[in-house]
Amino acid sequence: MDDDNSDYLDEPDDCDCEDYDADILEGRARCFRCGRSWRMTTQQLSAETRWQASMFEASDADIA
Ligand SMILES: [Zn+2]
Repeated sequence: MDDDNSDYLDEPDDCDCEDYDADILEGRARCFRCGRSWRMTTQQLSAETRWQASMFEASDADIA
């Protein structure tokens, strides 16, 4: 049987959700393309937090 991919029926197109907005306070991510939101893993969150922190430091250093 070819029922292995039945999960894809609920997905709009075949979005791989690479472009998402991360809400580190809520611990959730939301895809720009399909609007799907999901709970981020601790690992994803720490990576996201580090990235946003480095962005903040960069803009902060720019002002000074
Ligand atoms: Zn998506």
